[in-house]
Amino acid sequence: MLENKDFIIQIKGLQIGKHTYNFPINGAFFRNFENSFILDADLQADVVLEKGSGWMNVVAEVTGDVTVECDRCLDDVILPMDFECSMAVKFAKSVEDGDDDEFIIMDPTDSELDITQFLYDYVCLNLPLQKVHEDGECNQEMMQKLGSVNAAGEKSDEEVAANSPFGALKGLFDNKN
Ligand SMILES: [Zn+2]
Repeated sequence: MLENKDFIIQIKGLQIGKHTYNFPINGAFFRNFENSFILDADLQADVVLEKGSGWMNVVAEVTGDVTVECDRCLDDVILPMDFECSMAVKFAKSVEDGDDDEFIIMDPTDSELDITQFLYDYVCLNLPLQKVHEDGECNQEMMQKLGSVNAAGEKSDEEVAANSPFGALKGLFDNKN
């Protein structure tokens, strides 16, 4: 992965209290990650970093949209994003010193916080499971080509239910009550 200096917050000498940052996230950000399925992006991350004594709390509000491949027709589909994510940092000399799953441990002498991975992970986590166009907006031509390949292997819900052993038993249980 290429180093992305744009997403580094200088924390050395930062005053105790809240600090706000603004990070635009474009397609190049995701292209730096191998195997990223985000093709393009126009996102804005509004970050509030609260620094305390020995800890930091980082909250990011991410809004905008990303372009991915549609699961159904393989054309580009633009998906809106609007979510908030946060991470808690504890400064400790060693991992045992602050062994806690809820916190990210950083060395007290670290001078910068890189939020590249943090932002990437949360954008990926907040993508819908089904990345598809709205109904009727898929590339019909492509769907037909794909359909001829998929049709043979797919079963409807009714077919699956009819073949299930529980489907046959269902009637028996219904009669008992
Ligand atoms: Zn589609």
